[in-house]
Amino acid sequence: MSPQPQARKIAVVGGTRGIGAAITSTFIRAGHDVLLTGRTVPDVVLEKFRTEASREGQAVEAFALDSAAPDSAERLAAAVSSLLGGLDVLCLNAGVFPNKPLAEMTYTDVREVFAVNVESQMLAVAACLPLLRESTAGRVVLTSSITGPLTGFPGWSHYGASKAAQLGFMRTAALELAPHGITVNAVAPGNVATEGLDGMGEEYLTQMTRSIPLGRLAQSQEIADAVEFLAGERASFITGQVITVDGGQTLPESPEAVLPVPAPQQS
Ligand code: NAP
Repeated sequence: MSPQPQARKIAVVGGTRGIGAAITSTFIRAGHDVLLTGRTVPDVVLEKFRTEASREGQAVEAFALDSAAPDSAERLAAAVSSLLGGLDVLCLNAGVFPNKPLAEMTYTDVREVFAVNVESQMLAVAACLPLLRESTAGRVVLTSSITGPLTGFPGWSHYGASKAAQLGFMRTAALELAPHGITVNAVAPGNVATEGLDGMGEEYLTQMTRSIPLGRLAQSQEIADAVEFLAGERASFITGQVITVDGGQTLPESPEAVLPVPAPQQS
């Protein structure tokens, strides 16, 4: 039997739903001390996470925080310090993806997306740096996207720009934090079946499924597994990198390159 990994102190920003909930659950089930945030964290959500705790004395804490607020980074660092007493892994997953054609784009639309998807993450890393430096193996894991860094989609010019900016930040942050033994990496999901994506409607989901060589959307757990890898010991020499988890969606040169997936055999 392999030895239990040492319990680490982990913050998941945007950890209440969708991909973030899978990240939160993954770390809790592995026995780590976890603080999750969201604009709201309903009691029922926190209680569900607490039932997943796997060891005596494990901390499973929540802190309601709007990442777009100007003081969110300082409040996050203070909450992590008081509720976890330290920080080994900072997962920055909160993101918004409102669809808005460029012809209708306003200053407010751009500000909203960049405030949550980029600025809050840069400032969170800066504010949590003193805590991460205390760790023997600090880790920052960003949730990026294929949209922006690798692909485009009509209506998401601001979102795509924010996700590409996130990776620009990641590369220099990785260099600045390397001397402290802190790695900074990202996971770039393709289309993942989450509440947030459900809002895009049935037609969008069908169209996307057709463009994915593996023939389906990702499950949130498949993204969380990549985040767990980057946060763990086995990724100790990886920094400034992106793992794309997209079922091959960014590979085809044309729609014909996506081969039909056979229907499951009836037993
Ligand atoms: P989701 O279901 O809408 O969940 C978003 C999470 O972020 C929730 O926990 C939400 O909590 C939190 N959040 C949103 N705005 C926030 C704010 N201002 N302050 C604090 N927390 C906030 O989204 P998802 O589909 O899981 O996406 C999660 C991440 O993956 C995002 O960064 C997204 O860009 C990225 N991504 C998703 C897909 C996909 O197909 N789903 C694909 C590529 C990348 P509250 O609502 O309580 O604030």
